[in-house]
Amino acid sequence: MAIHTTLFFKFKALLQRDGWISPAYVGIDASGKISYLSNIAPSGAFAMDAVEGYAIPGFQNAHSHAFQYAMAGLAESHVAGTHDDFWTWREAMYRCALSIGPDQLEAIATMLYSEMLRHGYTQVAEFHYLHHDQEGNPYNNLAELGERMVAAAKNAGIKITLVPVFYQKGNFGQAPQPRQRRFISASINDYFKLFESSKEAIKTYGDASIGFSIHSLRAVDFTDIVKTVGSMPSGLPFHMHVAEQKKEVADCVGYCGKRPMQWVLDNLPVGDRFHLVHSTHLDDQELLRLAKSGARVVLCPSTEGNLGDGIFRMKEFVGQKGRWSIGTDSHIGINPLEEFRMIDYRQRLTTHARNTFDGDAARYMVNEAVASGRMAMGVQANDHFETGRPFDAYVLDAKAPLLAATSLENMAATMVYSADANYALGTIVNGKWKVKNNRHVGEKETRDNFIRAMRKLANR
Ligand code: ZN
Repeated sequence: MAIHTTLFFKFKALLQRDGWISPAYVGIDASGKISYLSNIAPSGAFAMDAVEGYAIPGFQNAHSHAFQYAMAGLAESHVAGTHDDFWTWREAMYRCALSIGPDQLEAIATMLYSEMLRHGYTQVAEFHYLHHDQEGNPYNNLAELGERMVAAAKNAGIKITLVPVFYQKGNFGQAPQPRQRRFISASINDYFKLFESSKEAIKTYGDASIGFSIHSLRAVDFTDIVKTVGSMPSGLPFHMHVAEQKKEVADCVGYCGKRPMQWVLDNLPVGDRFHLVHSTHLDDQELLRLAKSGARVVLCPSTEGNLGDGIFRMKEFVGQKGRWSIGTDSHIGINPLEEFRMIDYRQRLTTHARNTFDGDAARYMVNEAVASGRMAMGVQANDHFETGRPFDAYVLDAKAPLLAATSLENMAATMVYSADANYALGTIVNGKWKVKNNRHVGEKETRDNFIRAMRKLANR
Protein backbone atom coordinates (compact mmCIF):
# COMPACT_ATOMS: atom_id res chain seq x y z
CA MET A 1 0.00 0.00 0.00
CA ALA A 2 1.21 3.42 -0.90
CA ILE A 3 2.69 5.28 2.03
CA HIS A 4 0.90 8.51 1.10
CA THR A 5 -2.61 7.08 1.52
CA THR A 6 -4.57 9.61 3.57
CA LEU A 7 -7.99 7.98 3.89
CA PHE A 8 -9.75 4.66 3.41
CA PHE A 9 -13.32 4.02 2.39
CA LYS A 10 -15.03 0.74 3.08
CA PHE A 11 -18.10 -0.05 0.95
CA LYS A 12 -20.40 -3.06 1.06
CA ALA A 13 -19.38 -3.56 -2.56
CA LEU A 14 -17.85 -1.71 -5.50
CA LEU A 15 -18.71 -2.31 -9.15
CA GLN A 16 -16.00 -3.10 -11.67
CA ARG A 17 -16.52 -4.03 -15.34
CA ASP A 18 -16.47 -7.75 -14.50
CA GLY A 19 -18.60 -7.53 -11.38
CA TRP A 20 -18.61 -6.55 -7.73
CA ILE A 21 -15.74 -6.45 -5.24
CA SER A 22 -17.19 -7.13 -1.79
CA PRO A 23 -16.44 -5.78 0.68
CA ALA A 24 -14.40 -3.05 -0.99
CA TYR A 25 -11.58 -1.13 0.66
CA VAL A 26 -10.46 1.94 -1.28
CA GLY A 27 -7.39 3.93 -0.24
CA ILE A 28 -7.16 7.55 -1.37
CA ASP A 29 -3.94 9.53 -1.70
CA ALA A 30 -3.53 13.25 -1.07
CA SER A 31 -4.48 14.10 -4.68
CA GLY A 32 -7.73 12.08 -4.58
CA LYS A 33 -6.36 9.15 -6.56
CA ILE A 34 -6.89 5.51 -5.67
CA SER A 35 -3.86 4.11 -3.86
CA TYR A 36 -5.38 0.82 -2.66
CA LEU A 37 -8.28 -1.29 -3.94
CA SER A 38 -9.09 -4.70 -2.49
CA ASN A 39 -11.65 -6.84 -0.70
CA ILE A 40 -9.00 -7.34 1.99
CA ALA A 41 -8.73 -4.76 4.75
CA PRO A 42 -5.50 -2.74 4.76
CA SER A 43 -3.17 -3.48 7.65
CA GLY A 44 -2.30 -0.64 9.97
CA ALA A 45 -4.24 2.19 11.56
CA PHE A 46 -5.90 4.52 9.08
CA ALA A 47 -8.85 6.89 9.05
CA MET A 48 -11.68 4.72 7.68
CA ASP A 49 -14.97 6.02 6.25
CA ALA A 50 -17.20 2.92 6.57
CA VAL A 51 -20.07 3.48 4.15
CA GLU A 52 -23.32 1.49 4.24
CA GLY A 53 -23.49 1.71 0.50
CA TYR A 54 -22.62 0.35 -2.92
CA ALA A 55 -20.11 2.30 -5.03
CA ILE A 56 -20.57 2.41 -8.78
CA PRO A 57 -18.52 4.54 -11.19
CA GLY A 58 -19.46 8.22 -11.45
CA PHE A 59 -21.22 8.79 -14.78
CA GLN A 60 -20.20 10.96 -17.72
CA ASN A 61 -22.72 13.40 -19.12
CA ALA A 62 -21.39 13.51 -22.67
CA HIS A 63 -23.70 16.23 -24.01
CA SER A 64 -24.82 19.36 -22.16
CA HIS A 65 -26.11 22.80 -23.14
CA ALA A 66 -26.18 24.23 -19.62
CA PHE A 67 -28.12 27.43 -20.39
CA GLN A 68 -31.12 25.37 -21.53
CA TYR A 69 -31.64 24.28 -17.90
CA ALA A 70 -33.21 27.73 -17.42
CA MET A 71 -36.13 26.70 -19.67
CA ALA A 72 -36.62 23.10 -18.52
CA GLY A 73 -40.35 22.47 -18.30
CA LEU A 74 -41.33 25.81 -19.84
CA ALA A 75 -42.22 24.58 -23.32
CA GLU A 76 -44.85 22.03 -22.33
CA SER A 77 -48.08 23.94 -22.90
CA HIS A 78 -49.43 23.46 -26.41
CA VAL A 79 -52.06 25.56 -28.11
CA ALA A 80 -54.87 23.48 -29.60
CA GLY A 81 -54.86 23.41 -33.38
CA THR A 82 -51.21 24.47 -33.71
CA HIS A 83 -48.13 22.41 -34.45
CA ASP A 84 -45.28 22.21 -31.92
CA ASP A 85 -42.08 20.36 -32.76
CA PHE A 86 -38.29 20.68 -32.46
CA TRP A 87 -38.27 23.76 -34.67
CA THR A 88 -40.89 25.68 -32.67
CA TRP A 89 -39.11 24.63 -29.44
CA ARG A 90 -35.89 25.96 -30.96
CA GLU A 91 -37.42 29.44 -31.25
CA ALA A 92 -38.15 29.37 -27.50
CA MET A 93 -34.60 28.15 -26.88
CA TYR A 94 -33.18 31.05 -28.97
CA ARG A 95 -35.18 33.54 -26.87
CA CYS A 96 -33.72 31.94 -23.75
CA ALA A 97 -30.19 32.05 -25.21
CA LEU A 98 -30.51 35.77 -25.98
CA SER A 99 -31.65 36.67 -22.49
CA ILE A 100 -28.83 35.30 -20.32
CA GLY A 101 -25.84 37.36 -19.12
CA PRO A 102 -22.49 35.96 -17.93
CA ASP A 103 -23.24 36.05 -14.17
CA GLN A 104 -26.62 34.42 -14.71
CA LEU A 105 -25.10 31.77 -16.94
CA GLU A 106 -22.53 30.90 -14.29
CA ALA A 107 -25.22 30.69 -11.58
CA ILE A 108 -27.50 28.54 -13.73
CA ALA A 109 -24.67 26.20 -14.75
CA THR A 110 -23.44 25.91 -11.15
CA MET A 111 -26.92 24.83 -10.06
CA LEU A 112 -27.24 22.40 -12.95
CA TYR A 113 -23.81 20.84 -12.36
CA SER A 114 -24.58 20.46 -8.64
CA GLU A 115 -27.78 18.66 -9.58
CA MET A 116 -25.87 16.46 -12.04
CA LEU A 117 -23.56 15.46 -9.18
CA ARG A 118 -26.57 14.68 -7.01
CA HIS A 119 -27.75 12.25 -9.69
CA GLY A 120 -24.37 10.55 -10.05
CA TYR A 121 -22.63 12.37 -12.88
CA THR A 122 -19.02 13.26 -12.05
CA GLN A 123 -18.00 14.56 -15.49
CA VAL A 124 -19.73 16.70 -18.09
CA ALA A 125 -18.93 17.59 -21.70
CA GLU A 126 -20.29 21.11 -22.17
CA PHE A 127 -21.17 21.52 -25.86
CA HIS A 128 -20.74 25.26 -25.73
CA TYR A 129 -21.99 27.56 -28.48
CA LEU A 130 -23.18 30.60 -26.54
CA HIS A 131 -20.04 32.63 -27.26
CA HIS A 132 -20.84 36.35 -27.67
CA ASP A 133 -22.69 39.08 -25.78
CA GLN A 134 -26.40 39.73 -26.22
CA GLU A 135 -25.77 42.01 -29.20
CA GLY A 136 -23.64 39.37 -30.86
CA ASN A 137 -20.31 41.14 -30.20
CA PRO A 138 -17.34 39.10 -28.98
CA TYR A 139 -16.40 39.63 -25.33
CA ASN A 140 -12.90 41.04 -24.68
CA ASN A 141 -12.05 37.53 -23.58
CA LEU A 142 -13.36 35.55 -26.58
CA ALA A 143 -14.00 32.60 -24.26
CA GLU A 144 -15.67 34.67 -21.51
CA LEU A 145 -18.72 32.44 -21.38
CA GLY A 146 -16.66 29.25 -21.76
CA GLU A 147 -14.64 30.41 -18.77
CA ARG A 148 -17.94 30.89 -16.87
CA MET A 149 -18.84 27.26 -17.63
CA VAL A 150 -15.45 26.17 -16.27
CA ALA A 151 -16.03 28.36 -13.19
CA ALA A 152 -19.46 26.78 -12.71
CA ALA A 153 -17.93 23.29 -12.87
CA LYS A 154 -15.30 24.35 -10.35
CA ASN A 155 -17.95 25.83 -8.05
CA ALA A 156 -19.96 22.61 -8.17
CA GLY A 157 -16.97 20.25 -8.12
CA ILE A 158 -17.79 18.35 -11.31
CA LYS A 159 -15.12 17.60 -13.93
CA ILE A 160 -15.69 19.40 -17.22
CA THR A 161 -14.66 18.99 -20.81
CA LEU A 162 -15.32 22.35 -22.42
CA VAL A 163 -16.27 21.77 -26.04
CA PRO A 164 -16.17 25.11 -27.90
CA VAL A 165 -18.47 24.79 -30.89
CA PHE A 166 -17.98 26.10 -34.43
CA TYR A 167 -21.35 27.57 -35.50
CA GLN A 168 -21.37 29.62 -38.70
CA LYS A 169 -24.62 29.25 -40.70
CA GLY A 170 -28.37 29.60 -40.30
CA ASN A 171 -29.10 26.38 -42.18
CA PHE A 172 -27.59 24.45 -45.09
CA GLY A 173 -25.99 27.11 -47.31
CA GLN A 174 -27.82 29.95 -45.54
CA ALA A 175 -26.51 33.00 -43.69
CA PRO A 176 -26.99 33.01 -39.90
CA GLN A 177 -30.17 34.56 -38.55
CA PRO A 178 -30.04 37.58 -36.17
CA ARG A 179 -31.30 35.45 -33.27
CA GLN A 180 -28.28 33.14 -33.67
CA ARG A 181 -25.89 36.09 -33.23
CA ARG A 182 -24.39 34.88 -29.95
CA PHE A 183 -23.24 31.60 -31.53
CA ILE A 184 -21.41 32.67 -34.66
CA SER A 185 -17.79 32.25 -35.73
CA ALA A 186 -17.75 33.62 -39.28
CA SER A 187 -14.63 31.77 -40.44
CA ILE A 188 -12.32 28.87 -39.59
CA ASN A 189 -9.84 31.47 -38.36
CA ASP A 190 -12.43 32.94 -35.99
CA TYR A 191 -13.23 29.47 -34.64
CA PHE A 192 -9.57 28.72 -33.98
CA LYS A 193 -9.19 32.04 -32.11
CA LEU A 194 -12.12 31.01 -29.95
CA PHE A 195 -10.63 27.55 -29.49
CA GLU A 196 -7.28 29.03 -28.38
CA SER A 197 -9.04 31.32 -25.87
CA SER A 198 -11.00 28.31 -24.61
CA LYS A 199 -7.72 26.48 -24.05
CA GLU A 200 -6.68 29.38 -21.81
CA ALA A 201 -10.04 29.27 -20.01
CA ILE A 202 -9.60 25.65 -18.90
CA LYS A 203 -6.35 26.56 -17.14
CA THR A 204 -8.45 28.10 -14.37
CA TYR A 205 -9.50 24.64 -13.10
CA GLY A 206 -7.41 21.49 -12.67
CA ASP A 207 -10.34 19.23 -13.58
CA ALA A 208 -11.12 20.94 -16.89
CA SER A 209 -10.12 19.68 -20.32
CA ILE A 210 -10.89 20.74 -23.89
CA GLY A 211 -12.73 19.23 -26.85
CA PHE A 212 -13.31 20.22 -30.46
CA SER A 213 -16.58 20.59 -32.31
CA ILE A 214 -18.66 21.43 -35.33
CA HIS A 215 -22.27 22.15 -34.30
CA SER A 216 -23.87 20.17 -37.14
CA LEU A 217 -23.86 19.93 -40.93
CA ARG A 218 -26.54 22.62 -41.06
CA ALA A 219 -24.38 25.07 -39.05
CA VAL A 220 -21.07 25.18 -40.96
CA ASP A 221 -20.15 25.35 -44.66
CA PHE A 222 -19.21 21.84 -45.89
CA THR A 223 -15.79 22.86 -47.25
CA ASP A 224 -15.03 24.55 -43.93
CA ILE A 225 -16.13 21.44 -42.00
CA VAL A 226 -13.63 19.29 -43.90
CA LYS A 227 -10.84 21.85 -43.43
CA THR A 228 -11.59 22.44 -39.73
CA VAL A 229 -11.74 18.75 -38.86
CA GLY A 230 -8.56 18.27 -40.92
CA SER A 231 -6.79 20.88 -38.73
CA MET A 232 -8.06 19.45 -35.44
CA PRO A 233 -5.26 19.03 -32.89
CA SER A 234 -4.57 15.33 -32.35
CA GLY A 235 -5.78 13.54 -29.27
CA LEU A 236 -8.93 15.60 -28.66
CA PRO A 237 -12.48 14.27 -28.56
CA PHE A 238 -14.57 15.61 -31.46
CA HIS A 239 -18.28 16.27 -30.91
CA MET A 240 -21.01 16.99 -33.47
CA HIS A 241 -24.81 16.73 -33.70
CA VAL A 242 -25.85 14.48 -36.60
CA ALA A 243 -29.26 13.52 -38.02
CA GLU A 244 -31.38 14.50 -35.04
CA GLN A 245 -34.47 15.52 -36.98
CA LYS A 246 -36.22 14.20 -40.11
CA LYS A 247 -36.45 17.72 -41.54
CA GLU A 248 -32.68 18.06 -41.10
CA VAL A 249 -32.19 14.84 -43.10
CA ALA A 250 -34.51 16.08 -45.87
CA ASP A 251 -32.83 19.51 -45.94
CA CYS A 252 -29.40 17.84 -46.19
CA VAL A 253 -30.50 15.59 -49.06
CA GLY A 254 -32.00 18.62 -50.80
CA TYR A 255 -28.77 20.57 -50.33
CA CYS A 256 -26.11 18.01 -51.26
CA GLY A 257 -27.89 14.82 -52.37
CA LYS A 258 -26.70 12.87 -49.32
CA ARG A 259 -28.19 12.09 -45.94
CA PRO A 260 -26.28 13.70 -43.00
CA MET A 261 -24.63 10.55 -41.61
CA GLN A 262 -23.82 9.40 -45.15
CA TRP A 263 -22.07 12.73 -45.80
CA VAL A 264 -20.17 12.52 -42.50
CA LEU A 265 -19.00 8.95 -43.17
CA ASP A 266 -18.01 9.81 -46.77
CA ASN A 267 -16.17 13.06 -46.01
CA LEU A 268 -14.69 13.00 -42.50
CA PRO A 269 -12.07 10.72 -40.90
CA VAL A 270 -14.65 9.10 -38.64
CA GLY A 271 -13.06 7.01 -35.88
CA ASP A 272 -13.04 6.48 -32.16
CA ARG A 273 -12.43 10.16 -31.33
CA PHE A 274 -15.78 11.05 -32.92
CA HIS A 275 -18.77 11.52 -30.62
CA LEU A 276 -21.81 11.89 -32.86
CA VAL A 277 -24.73 13.22 -30.88
CA HIS A 278 -28.22 11.75 -31.47
CA SER A 279 -27.59 9.99 -34.83
CA THR A 280 -31.32 9.34 -34.70
CA HIS A 281 -32.15 8.89 -38.35
CA LEU A 282 -29.92 6.25 -39.94
CA ASP A 283 -30.56 3.99 -42.92
CA ASP A 284 -29.23 0.40 -42.93
CA GLN A 285 -25.94 1.28 -44.62
CA GLU A 286 -25.27 4.23 -42.32
CA LEU A 287 -25.97 2.14 -39.23
CA LEU A 288 -23.55 -0.57 -40.36
CA ARG A 289 -20.80 1.87 -41.36
CA LEU A 290 -21.19 3.93 -38.18
CA ALA A 291 -20.90 0.83 -35.97
CA LYS A 292 -17.79 -0.34 -37.85
CA SER A 293 -16.16 3.12 -37.74
CA GLY A 294 -15.52 2.98 -33.98
CA ALA A 295 -17.25 6.35 -33.51
CA ARG A 296 -19.38 6.77 -30.40
CA VAL A 297 -23.01 7.80 -30.57
CA VAL A 298 -24.09 10.13 -27.75
CA LEU A 299 -27.69 9.35 -26.87
CA CYS A 300 -29.85 11.87 -25.00
CA PRO A 301 -33.09 9.92 -24.55
CA SER A 302 -35.02 12.31 -22.28
CA THR A 303 -34.33 15.29 -24.56
CA GLU A 304 -34.84 13.25 -27.74
CA GLY A 305 -38.20 12.14 -26.35
CA ASN A 306 -39.12 15.64 -25.20
CA LEU A 307 -38.34 17.11 -28.63
CA GLY A 308 -39.99 14.32 -30.61
CA ASP A 309 -36.75 13.58 -32.46
CA GLY A 310 -37.29 9.88 -33.12
CA ILE A 311 -35.85 6.62 -31.84
CA PHE A 312 -32.23 5.60 -32.34
CA ARG A 313 -31.92 2.03 -33.68
CA MET A 314 -30.10 0.80 -30.59
CA LYS A 315 -30.81 -2.90 -30.80
CA GLU A 316 -29.52 -3.17 -34.37
CA PHE A 317 -26.58 -0.83 -33.64
CA VAL A 318 -25.44 -2.86 -30.63
CA GLY A 319 -25.98 -6.04 -32.69
CA GLN A 320 -23.24 -4.61 -34.96
CA LYS A 321 -21.04 -3.86 -31.93
CA GLY A 322 -21.80 -0.14 -32.08
CA ARG A 323 -20.55 2.02 -29.21
CA TRP A 324 -22.42 4.73 -27.29
CA SER A 325 -22.57 7.06 -24.29
CA ILE A 326 -25.28 9.21 -22.69
CA GLY A 327 -25.94 12.94 -22.36
CA THR A 328 -28.75 15.11 -21.03
CA ASP A 329 -28.62 17.83 -23.70
CA SER A 330 -31.48 20.23 -22.81
CA HIS A 331 -31.65 18.93 -19.19
CA ILE A 332 -35.35 18.24 -19.20
CA GLY A 333 -34.17 15.17 -17.24
CA ILE A 334 -30.78 14.70 -15.57
CA ASN A 335 -30.93 11.24 -14.04
CA PRO A 336 -28.56 8.78 -15.76
CA LEU A 337 -30.59 5.78 -14.59
CA GLU A 338 -33.65 7.22 -16.34
CA GLU A 339 -31.63 7.67 -19.52
CA PHE A 340 -30.71 3.96 -19.38
CA ARG A 341 -34.33 2.96 -18.86
CA MET A 342 -35.48 5.08 -21.77
CA ILE A 343 -32.76 3.65 -24.02
CA ASP A 344 -33.98 0.14 -23.27
CA TYR A 345 -37.72 0.79 -23.03
CA ARG A 346 -38.06 2.69 -26.29
CA GLN A 347 -36.56 -0.38 -28.00
CA ARG A 348 -38.88 -2.74 -26.12
CA LEU A 349 -41.88 -0.63 -27.12
CA THR A 350 -40.96 -0.68 -30.81
CA THR A 351 -39.63 -4.27 -31.08
CA HIS A 352 -42.28 -5.82 -28.78
CA ALA A 353 -39.45 -7.79 -27.20
CA ARG A 354 -37.67 -7.36 -23.85
CA ASN A 355 -34.13 -8.37 -24.80
CA THR A 356 -32.65 -5.18 -26.21
CA PHE A 357 -29.24 -6.34 -24.96
CA ASP A 358 -27.74 -9.79 -24.37
CA GLY A 359 -26.84 -10.77 -20.82
CA ASP A 360 -27.04 -8.47 -17.78
CA ALA A 361 -28.48 -5.36 -19.46
CA ALA A 362 -27.79 -3.04 -16.51
CA ARG A 363 -24.13 -4.00 -16.21
CA TYR A 364 -23.73 -3.77 -19.99
CA MET A 365 -25.25 -0.26 -20.10
CA VAL A 366 -23.16 1.02 -17.18
CA ASN A 367 -19.97 -0.46 -18.67
CA GLU A 368 -20.64 0.99 -22.11
CA ALA A 369 -21.81 4.43 -20.99
CA VAL A 370 -18.79 4.83 -18.69
CA ALA A 371 -16.15 3.59 -21.16
CA SER A 372 -17.49 5.62 -24.11
CA GLY A 373 -18.45 8.54 -21.86
CA ARG A 374 -14.89 8.80 -20.61
CA MET A 375 -13.64 8.85 -24.21
CA ALA A 376 -16.03 11.75 -24.87
CA MET A 377 -14.00 13.58 -22.20
CA GLY A 378 -10.70 12.47 -23.75
CA VAL A 379 -10.03 9.89 -21.01
CA GLN A 380 -9.22 6.24 -21.62
CA ALA A 381 -9.26 3.69 -18.81
CA ASN A 382 -9.42 -0.09 -18.56
CA ASP A 383 -11.72 -0.48 -15.59
CA HIS A 384 -14.21 1.59 -13.62
CA PHE A 385 -11.79 1.94 -10.72
CA GLU A 386 -7.99 1.60 -10.96
CA THR A 387 -5.12 2.45 -8.67
CA GLY A 388 -3.43 5.65 -9.78
CA ARG A 389 -6.69 7.08 -11.17
CA PRO A 390 -9.05 9.55 -9.44
CA PHE A 391 -11.71 8.03 -7.21
CA ASP A 392 -15.03 9.26 -8.68
CA ALA A 393 -18.06 7.28 -7.55
CA TYR A 394 -21.82 7.33 -7.17
CA VAL A 395 -22.85 5.59 -3.97
CA LEU A 396 -26.25 3.99 -3.45
CA ASP A 397 -27.77 3.36 -0.05
CA ALA A 398 -27.44 -0.27 1.11
CA LYS A 399 -30.41 0.34 3.41
CA ALA A 400 -32.81 1.31 0.60
CA PRO A 401 -35.52 -1.38 0.80
CA LEU A 402 -35.03 -3.11 -2.54
CA LEU A 403 -31.22 -2.94 -2.33
CA ALA A 404 -31.17 -4.23 1.26
CA ALA A 405 -33.05 -7.33 0.10
CA THR A 406 -31.06 -7.97 -3.10
CA SER A 407 -28.06 -10.23 -3.85
CA LEU A 408 -25.02 -8.82 -5.65
CA GLU A 409 -25.99 -10.86 -8.68
CA ASN A 410 -29.16 -8.79 -9.13
CA MET A 411 -27.86 -5.56 -7.61
CA ALA A 412 -26.90 -3.58 -10.75
CA ALA A 413 -30.21 -4.41 -12.46
CA THR A 414 -32.19 -3.42 -9.36
CA MET A 415 -30.33 -0.09 -9.27
CA VAL A 416 -30.60 0.69 -12.96
CA TYR A 417 -34.23 -0.37 -13.44
CA SER A 418 -35.78 0.42 -10.04
CA ALA A 419 -33.80 3.00 -8.03
CA ASP A 420 -34.86 6.61 -7.72
CA ALA A 421 -32.82 9.57 -6.48
CA ASN A 422 -33.73 8.74 -2.88
CA TYR A 423 -31.64 5.58 -3.17
CA ALA A 424 -28.55 7.76 -3.49
CA LEU A 425 -26.22 8.06 -0.55
CA GLY A 426 -23.91 10.47 -2.28
CA THR A 427 -21.37 11.28 -4.94
CA ILE A 428 -17.59 11.28 -4.49
CA VAL A 429 -15.16 13.21 -6.73
CA ASN A 430 -11.40 12.90 -6.28
CA GLY A 431 -12.00 10.94 -3.07
CA LYS A 432 -14.21 13.63 -1.47
CA TRP A 433 -17.97 13.65 -0.89
CA LYS A 434 -19.52 16.35 -3.10
CA VAL A 435 -23.04 15.16 -2.36
CA LYS A 436 -24.05 13.34 0.81
CA ASN A 437 -27.57 12.21 1.76
CA ASN A 438 -28.91 13.83 -1.41
CA ARG A 439 -27.47 17.26 -0.50
CA HIS A 440 -24.68 18.99 -2.38
CA VAL A 441 -21.98 20.49 -0.14
CA GLY A 442 -22.58 23.98 -1.55
CA GLU A 443 -26.34 23.62 -1.77
CA LYS A 444 -27.52 26.79 -0.05
CA GLU A 445 -25.26 29.31 -1.77
CA THR A 446 -25.71 27.62 -5.13
CA ARG A 447 -29.48 27.63 -4.83
CA ASP A 448 -29.62 31.26 -3.61
CA ASN A 449 -27.49 32.42 -6.54
CA PHE A 450 -29.58 30.37 -8.96
CA ILE A 451 -32.88 31.76 -7.68
CA ARG A 452 -31.48 35.30 -7.90
CA ALA A 453 -30.34 34.70 -11.49
CA MET A 454 -33.67 33.19 -12.47
CA ARG A 455 -35.63 36.07 -10.92
CA LYS A 456 -33.63 38.46 -13.07
CA LEU A 457 -34.34 36.30 -16.11
CA ALA A 458 -38.05 36.34 -15.14
CA ASN A 459 -38.99 33.56 -17.57
CA ARG A 460 -40.48 31.13 -15.02
ZN1 ZN B 1 -27.41 19.23 -28.35
